[in-house]
Amino acid sequence: MKNSSGLNLENAREDEQVSVMRDIIADGVCPFCHDFVDFLEPMYHAKPILHKNSSWIVTENAWPYENTAQHLLFVLRRHITHDSALTQKEIQDLWTLKKRIEKDRTITHGTFLMRSSGAGNTGATVHHLHAQLIVSGDENGVVTKVG
Ligand SMILES: [Zn+2]
Repeated sequence: MKNSSGLNLENAREDEQVSVMRDIIADGVCPFCHDFVDFLEPMYHAKPILHKNSSWIVTENAWPYENTAQHLLFVLRRHITHDSALTQKEIQDLWTLKKRIEKDRTITHGTFLMRSSGAGNTGATVHHLHAQLIVSGDENGVVTKVG
């Protein structure tokens, strides 16, 4: 990580994503703290918040992985970089929010992951702790390729 925003441009996958990340770096802020802790305008993340509780927000990934029917982000509403610092309440709140969005969107399969610390070592673009729910398949959730 070479900037105060905690972003890793090397892990960006799309040109628009790189452009937004360069703006964030120039502004010198953590994008998730800016958008989801302090709720400052204008927001860097263009997708709406789908649900939130006192610990987390859930939104769609602006740049979903290929071959995904849905790619959701769960962002912790305080800045930490490692899951070892999560409280029991935050862990419970994450699971509660995951179950809620799965019910709302009729999600029956998926991959749930959380990268911790070392943005350059994990493939993360944002250092602020977050989790991802990736539902493989086409727009109807039909899986044609896994991996
Ligand atoms: Zn942050």
